Amino acid sequence: MSTAGQVIRCRAAVAWESGKPLSIEEVEVAPPQKDEVRIKILFTSLCHTDVYFWDAKGQNPLFPRILGHEAGGIVESVGEGVTDLKPGDHVLPIFTGECKECPHCMSEESNMCDLLRINTDRVGMINDGKSRFSINGKPIYHFLGTSTFSEYTVVHVGQVAKINPHAPLDKVCVLSCGMSTGFGATVNVAKPKKGQSVAIFGLGAVGLAAAEGARVSGASRIIGVDLNPSRFKQAKKFGVTEFVNPKDYNKPVQEVIVEMTGGGVDRSVECTGSIQAMISAFECVHDGWGVAVLVGVPNKDDAFKTHPVNLLNEKTLKGTFFGNFKPRSDIPAVVEKYMNKELELDKFITHTVPFSEINKAFELMLAGEGLRCVIRMDE
Ligand code: NAD
Ligand code: ZN
Repeated sequence: MSTAGQVIRCRAAVAWESGKPLSIEEVEVAPPQKDEVRIKILFTSLCHTDVYFWDAKGQNPLFPRILGHEAGGIVESVGEGVTDLKPGDHVLPIFTGECKECPHCMSEESNMCDLLRINTDRVGMINDGKSRFSINGKPIYHFLGTSTFSEYTVVHVGQVAKINPHAPLDKVCVLSCGMSTGFGATVNVAKPKKGQSVAIFGLGAVGLAAAEGARVSGASRIIGVDLNPSRFKQAKKFGVTEFVNPKDYNKPVQEVIVEMTGGGVDRSVECTGSIQAMISAFECVHDGWGVAVLVGVPNKDDAFKTHPVNLLNEKTLKGTFFGNFKPRSDIPAVVEKYMNKELELDKFITHTVPFSEINKAFELMLAGEGLRCVIRMDE
């Protein structure tokens, strides 16, 4: 029996207030409106960005909210005007969109769509500003336009990548944020040349995906930087060749890296969210040609401080959302890379839990254990 056009009642994990365990509730999910798609989420995984907006220590507290943005699912129904997706399509919802019409979408250099670029404070749909989720008539906020911690969610069509229906959604769901972001930050933005050295700050899933990008680019040295020594053993499997723990030194880690490399690394990619690591990642690159790329999501009041002479000395500072990939145009091909075994994803998935135990995924991330924890929505 078709559910198109009807309100769907299903389970969602609701964050009622900052830092409190999510609670699984029955929610009502309204049908998709113009340019919207309703998706049955099958697998979702936890990214550190969800945790920042859940604990809301450095971000605006917006509750009650359905978090989640890294996921895979199947289109249940589409709203008016949606022509390139139909029920049954396999899709990845993406936290930043592509309208395909604005100057950014027309540019080869940008994925910062005017209409659908990441907006962490938006709590409703673009059409009418309203939420499609409710409990007893009371609206529950959206998160990043994706809210994947729900059995069904409504997403703008511009934030949906249609992928190969043979791709295993329990694996490729991690391409919906973390793995594409880290990999793209290296191959699309830092662009190391063969034989160059690359420093990766933060050896969580995003950082190790950035290391994977360095490895496939033919980097000679991949220097991993993390405060958590238990990350180092795992990182070896991802091609990281050397390790630096800033806690082991009584001088700034950028100085350690400059000494190790005789002047600085050729490229660095920051995947921590720590403002201190962002500054170190910039200051450790070689003058004349070094490029640093920031990926970590900062606290809302952070400010980046460095001496301008670092820039005059011809070091380049960049940043990226989603590894500069355009979600609809580029992600289907990244999924194909996994299907052709050019890109490994399975090793990033260190845990899986049933939806009823979603809070375990938060506990693992807070403890710095494992990389990605995939949440199975059907259990
Ligand atoms: P994670 O928690 O799994 O990994 C972060 C790692 O950084 C941890 O191992 C932690 O020990 C390490 N770390 C923290 N502070 C550090 C410091 N000062 N120096 C060195 N290492 C430090 O997180 P993740 O899911 O891999 O995400 C990494 C970052 O990327 C987060 O900030 C997340 O919000 C951000 N992110 C950004 C985008 C984007 O599009 N720009 C997309 C996804 C995630
Ligand atoms: Zn993410």
